[in-house]
Amino acid sequence: MQETAPPVSEQPATEDPVHEKTVHEKPVHEKPVNEKTVHGQTVDDQTRCVHYRTERDIVAIRFFCCGRFYPCFQCHAAAETHPARQWPADRWAEHAILCGACGHTLSIAEYREADRCTRCSAAFNDGCRAHAHLYFDVPEALA
Ligand SMILES: [Zn+2]
Ligand SMILES: [Zn+2]
Ligand SMILES: [Zn+2]
Repeated sequence: MQETAPPVSEQPATEDPVHEKTVHEKPVHEKPVNEKTVHGQTVDDQTRCVHYRTERDIVAIRFFCCGRFYPCFQCHAAAETHPARQWPADRWAEHAILCGACGHTLSIAEYREADRCTRCSAAFNDGCRAHAHLYFDVPEALA
């Protein structure tokens, strides 16, 4: 069965087809998910920052709100105009933790279990746990 052809439009074409906008089918490249650039006030290339720079401060955290890695919540606050948002527990499979020693990324769930990098065994700062609620939506009992 053939569709009935629509009647020829009597309206004058409003657009010269020659000048039609060409739509380039280029995929929009947002920031790649695995982008490991660490933003903020870093003081070395192992993610230490002006706020946290002990030997063990070697993780950067990708923030749920903007998807950028920052060494700490203070760096995020200084560089961004939006409030930091915490990762909901159902997103803890995301690799939001970057080991500054080897560049490996850990999932939040892995990081919450580990006291060192799962790849290079560099020790993480245990003190970070006290601030977990700034990055992750931690139930009070586990905070
Ligand atoms: Zn953010
Ligand atoms: Zn910082
Ligand atoms: Zn590592």
